[in-house]
Amino acid sequence: MAGVIWGLILLFSAGKKVLIVYGHQSSGSFNAAAKSAAVEVLTTQGCTVEVSDLYAMNFKATCTAEDITGEVKDAEHFKYAEETKLAWEEQKLSADIKEEHRKLTEADLVIFQFPMYWFSFPSIMKGWIDRVLTLGFAYSSEKRYSQGVFKDKKAILSFTTGSHESMFSANGINGDMNVTLWPIQNGILYYCGFQVLAPQIFWAPSYVTAEARGAMLEAWRTRLQGLLEEKAVSFAPSDYFDGEKGFQLKPEVQEEHADKEFGLTVGTHLGKALPPNNQMKAGV
Ligand SMILES: Cc1cc2nc3c(=O)[nH]c(=O)nc-3n(C[C@H](O)[C@H](O)[C@H](O)COP(=O)(O)OP(=O)(O)OC[C@H]3O[C@@H](n4cnc5c(N)ncnc54)[C@H](O)[C@@H]3O)c2cc1C
Repeated sequence: MAGVIWGLILLFSAGKKVLIVYGHQSSGSFNAAAKSAAVEVLTTQGCTVEVSDLYAMNFKATCTAEDITGEVKDAEHFKYAEETKLAWEEQKLSADIKEEHRKLTEADLVIFQFPMYWFSFPSIMKGWIDRVLTLGFAYSSEKRYSQGVFKDKKAILSFTTGSHESMFSANGINGDMNVTLWPIQNGILYYCGFQVLAPQIFWAPSYVTAEARGAMLEAWRTRLQGLLEEKAVSFAPSDYFDGEKGFQLKPEVQEEHADKEFGLTVGTHLGKALPPNNQMKAGV
């Protein structure tokens, strides 16, 4: 039976393309180990894996007019989103952005592997987000959230923390990790349409035993084997909101949820308790 399941997993994964956007400076880091595990396990399953190693690439993290080749439309009042949309349409984006666009277009799954910096990405990875997920290519006012450009792709945050898990709990000093994840998972990934997989969090690798670190990597390797088939975490679909009325939740949806114990999501919580682990587990 195990052989049959493994065969099915291999069949499903073979030929899939994975992009790992990797943001750590050191090849001896725990992040490097997590990245290498992903490359190895996914390649063994027949996936094609590309890695954007941001520090090794010296990836430019700032949004400037140099991201457009040739003349910009309005140098006096430069507007990054509009200018890069135009440049994308006219094939005038800089070579490094075009190359990341190619990788992203081809990918079925994107893994963001990074150490948590200030409750978020390291700046170099935020730079990748700002410069690669450009207007027109990655989103538009018509194509976002459940209608988003990348709705047929999956994405996952895989990151390490300095903090222990208890510190990021609902009564921990850092606050609930579900809340921390919301701006990234909802405001970036789901905004662009990605099916967002539950995050892979390596809690405080610097402060646990070598044995515990080994166990975390082993659990990641096991998860990677079925990652491409995983279901996504849950967000409110775009058609729950009324575009004519400032994208507020439709009254009929509000009514439907009036008697429910929990809000819809971390963000659209309706003043109720947050659905437990809404951003940490699939389908909650
Ligand atoms: C600017 C900044 C902001 C930060 N903000 C936050 C924040 O907001 N919240 C928070 O929680 N933390 C924060 N941190 C801490 C940061 O998230 C952690 O330091 C980081 O996640 C640790 O991951 P690492 O890969 O760098 O660990 P490393 O220090 O590289 O590794 C940890 C341990 O794993 C070992 N290791 C390496 N490879 C392997 C392997 N193959 N098998 C087993 N062990 C291995 C290493 O030798 C080391 O002992 C911040 C840090 C900085 C610099």
